[in-house]
Amino acid sequence: MKRCFGYVRVSTVKQGDGVSLEAQREAILAFASRNNIEITQWFEEKETAAKRGRPLFNQMVRDLHRGKAHGLVIHKVDRSARNPADWVQIGELADAGIDIHFVTESLDFRSRGGRLTADIQAVIAADYIRNLREECIKGITGRLKQGLYPFRAPIGYLDNGGGKAKTLDPRRAPLVKLAFELYASRRHSLRTLLAELNRKGLTNREGGTLTLCGIETLLNNPFYTGIIRIKRTGMSYRGVHERLISANLFERVQAIKSGKSGPKVTRHDHIYRGLFRCGHCHGPMVPELQKSHVYYRCAVKHCPTMTVREEALAAAIDTCLAQSQLGHADAADFLARIETWVAQTNSSDQEKAWQLRKAAIQDRIDRLTDALVDRLIDRDAYADRRQRLALEEEALDEEHQKIGNRAAKAAHMRTLIELAKTLCLSHQLAEPAEKRRLVEMTTSNRRVYGKNICIEPSNWLSEVENT
Ligand SMILES: [Zn+2]
Repeated sequence: MKRCFGYVRVSTVKQGDGVSLEAQREAILAFASRNNIEITQWFEEKETAAKRGRPLFNQMVRDLHRGKAHGLVIHKVDRSARNPADWVQIGELADAGIDIHFVTESLDFRSRGGRLTADIQAVIAADYIRNLREECIKGITGRLKQGLYPFRAPIGYLDNGGGKAKTLDPRRAPLVKLAFELYASRRHSLRTLLAELNRKGLTNREGGTLTLCGIETLLNNPFYTGIIRIKRTGMSYRGVHERLISANLFERVQAIKSGKSGPKVTRHDHIYRGLFRCGHCHGPMVPELQKSHVYYRCAVKHCPTMTVREEALAAAIDTCLAQSQLGHADAADFLARIETWVAQTNSSDQEKAWQLRKAAIQDRIDRLTDALVDRLIDRDAYADRRQRLALEEEALDEEHQKIGNRAAKAAHMRTLIELAKTLCLSHQLAEPAEKRRLVEMTTSNRRVYGKNICIEPSNWLSEVENT
């Protein structure tokens, strides 16, 4: 009985001619028993043979040359020969006196005619896969031009099969959006953001825990703003899928990440950090944790302002907000004014200005493409600027929607009024980050004199009141 290796391979690319590992294995076993062969070891690969340098294949060839088996049984010529270099190695094995058997082709590899037939089949197989690859690339480019993303959906989106746009994942999309918002708030490093998102239950596409690398990839992906970027080619396309975040927010996150914008992230998460100053010496009130209470202290020595507790600050804010809260009658009046104002707004001038800017961007895109064609800039520079322009275009379109959509504008203002009606409650119920934003937005001139806390309502609130 001859001792042989069995070699089976399935490719990960969908080829339509796939014979499963099990089926190949069975065919090889049947062949072996017919021909008095014992399969002593299996080599199974789950990759496309079009790429050379597969470790398993190379290992097998080495072992055969070392005489660890008499021969090799392969399911079909194209299983081994999708690339010419592998085929050469198979030929060398045969030349070295090792038996090569193909289950589905009755080829006598030792005869000249048999080798020739096998060689021809190998060439055909190699050509087939080249063609396949070309067709595949053509298909992908076509999809991209239609604004479809022909790969697996990023976290926060769902696949709907080829030819259909990705749709928002109702479970993950809000959390992905939150990730951008939290990071843009500068209250998080990537690490604390990751911890926060894990806590909120954001998982990766396999349902596993998100990694630091994963969160970075997520924040880098302009897909969420509607732009499909293909890293390998450096090309950007405008997707037809629903946008999750604004181009503006995306840009802000990129700026913070690259360290180009604003102060570094602080890890201590005291709610009112940096929001209050000492009324005597104008220095910041610095938070510190003591015996499970947070105190805010003036950092200047011998200043009459010593410390106030966070609770005292919260209470003072509540008082201020309660005073500047909009009464129901005022709110109703204000809402009526909004309706009138929105109805009167004439947006045709804005529309014209917008058209001009849009045309200017298109012009820049055209010139950029010309520069690439004329080789005035290289591919990387092109890709970089092209993406920048795509983002600008996106931001412009968002602006356009704002101009055009009066109803949305009115809705936004109504939300503000609603907020102004319930300021105090919002402050009490908000999560720390929101609380902070709320205080920043609605109050100003926050100072501590000794034990006295002074807060003024911010301008927009006063304006709402005055109107
Ligand atoms: Zn002071």
